[in-house]
Amino acid sequence: MPIYVLPDMVAAQIAAGEVVERPASVVKELLENALDAGATALAIDVHGSGRQLIRVRDNGQGIPTEEIELSLHRHATSKIRQIDDLAQLQTLGFRGEALYSISAVSRLTLTSRHRDEQVGARVVSEGGTILDARGIGVPAGTVVEVADLFFNVPARRKFLKSDATERRHITTLVMQYAMAYPDVRFQLTMDGREAFHTTGSGDLGEVVEAVMGIEIFHQMVEVTPMPPMRSDLPPIEVYGYTTIPDLDRANRSQIHLFINGRLISDQRLTYAVVQAYHTLLPAGRYPMAVIMLRLSPAEVDVNVHPTKAEVRFHAPDAVFTAVQRAVRRAVINQSGVPVVHKTSPGPSGSAPVSDEDVQKAQRLSALMSAGRTREAGQLDLDLDTFSPGRYSQQIAPDTNLEAQDEEDRFYPHYEAVTPPHLQQKANSVQSIDPTALPEGMGKPTRPRNLPLLRVIGQVGATYIVAEGPAGMYLIDQHAAHERILYEQFMAAFQSQQIAVQQVMETATIQLGAMQARLLDEYSEALAAIGFEVEEFGKNVYRIRSVPAILADRDPADVLLHLLQDAEAGKTPGAQAIEAKIIKRVCKAAAVKAGQILSHSEMQSLIHQLERCENPRTCPHGRPTLIHLSNTQLEKEFGRT
Ligand code: ADP
Ligand code: MG
Repeated sequence: MPIYVLPDMVAAQIAAGEVVERPASVVKELLENALDAGATALAIDVHGSGRQLIRVRDNGQGIPTEEIELSLHRHATSKIRQIDDLAQLQTLGFRGEALYSISAVSRLTLTSRHRDEQVGARVVSEGGTILDARGIGVPAGTVVEVADLFFNVPARRKFLKSDATERRHITTLVMQYAMAYPDVRFQLTMDGREAFHTTGSGDLGEVVEAVMGIEIFHQMVEVTPMPPMRSDLPPIEVYGYTTIPDLDRANRSQIHLFINGRLISDQRLTYAVVQAYHTLLPAGRYPMAVIMLRLSPAEVDVNVHPTKAEVRFHAPDAVFTAVQRAVRRAVINQSGVPVVHKTSPGPSGSAPVSDEDVQKAQRLSALMSAGRTREAGQLDLDLDTFSPGRYSQQIAPDTNLEAQDEEDRFYPHYEAVTPPHLQQKANSVQSIDPTALPEGMGKPTRPRNLPLLRVIGQVGATYIVAEGPAGMYLIDQHAAHERILYEQFMAAFQSQQIAVQQVMETATIQLGAMQARLLDEYSEALAAIGFEVEEFGKNVYRIRSVPAILADRDPADVLLHLLQDAEAGKTPGAQAIEAKIIKRVCKAAAVKAGQILSHSEMQSLIHQLERCENPRTCPHGRPTLIHLSNTQLEKEFGRT
């Protein structure tokens, strides 16, 4: 093809791709403009998950009538005049691209009255072409309406996710800006219903509480600024809220970072927050945090990417250390008695933690009562990150030895905890997958995928010792049970025969606004799996039913853990979401490490494991069993 200069319209649509990826990107740009205009109150109305209409109203200074058309032009900005101005940038915007890009891919109406003018103006544009511009009497401030987003870019429309996902992106974004600007009143409505609001009182804690939910907020400590470590370092103010080590997450998605009121994503700074918990959280677990940084605009380069979410620091190490120190001090000083986990030292490149901190952590560690600290070995195996001991009483290992004989003595404990699932399993198996029934029950049996195993006993109330033709087997009871339940549940799910249990007592959960969005997003998948959840009040939900295998678990607890898992924010296909939820359900339902099993329970468990399709790993990929062959045993004992 010969070279050809693209028409303006095509160029505009291509440029729009960089700034406007999805409805939430439009909301972001419009919010930033309103905040830059000094608004103290913002209303965001979203219809049809943002595809139909996004309207942002603000009470900021407004746009002078004679500039209103200009504001839709590319590189039209009132915020900088020359490149050096970036060093003193006090605004979120500066590229003059947002309105231009958004108008290129939507039907946009911009209505504004500058606070020093008597009359306002309105421009209407469609796909980047101005259709109408006229004077109009309106209150001071600006209203931007973006209708039919991507109406002229079908390819973009196709890449949008489900309505619920797009709504969640919008809510998350609005909540993040509300945290960054606690003195601005935000109101978000979706299809006419209020989804979130803040009062604009200026109290960051109040906004964080509204976003995270009261339960999480109560487990957060305030991060307050510290004087710089050395006088030659640039002043960096770090403040916000972060969770105490009792509370953690499986991913970093709940670490929110803001620089000078700008939401940013920065892996290194996220790592600084995580690093502040060194030795306080098990490996692979992360805190939740809202961290604000204030530093001179000359210290940050925000002109890295069109979305302005990435930044570069002139003194990155100083910023890293400032965040790490402030968070560390907050966690060490202000939390009650944090749970101190023994973990291996971090990577050699990790930021230094002062000796004093380490000693303090060690003292705390020594103070910890034995019961609250999980052993390092157990942590590594991650047998039970799901509230061990909360719904299952742990039994001291030395009472385990006679478990078989003393079954009666322990039965009351069992009744509350273990046998119901093991029985339940047998029951639900009947209704779910007849072929999975143990042998001798008159149904066709599935092929055995493990050698025939004979149970010998239990070690540490955690592992089952068994003998097979080829030697000795140690089976992780929790992992094995997870595998069994997972295969049964997946089979039931695929044949749409999941046994559901009504929840008798009213189980309600109060969620943070973010979690409520997730619940909204996953509601279909959850319903398919047996969770019937209905909205009861604002962000309060009632659980009406759960999958039957969870009958004796705390439904609220399981659901909360499910949502935490989902918080990763990744959006795999629908099937994958369901598989993920099923894995979590099975983890919750499976017999715990630390539960004594009777001989027959162990035999039944092994029996079912033998007939699993993949008996050797749990659904998360960890081994369910260790095999010591006869040859290995002989070698170990020096018989060969
Ligand atoms: P930028 O924010 O990078 O300057 P935009 O395309 O987002 O570029 O906006 C262009 C200009 O329009 C802004 O510089 C500002 O002068 C004006 N503007 C946009 N939105 C608003 C608003 N809500 N209130 C006042 N002025 C606005
Ligand atoms: Mg802007």
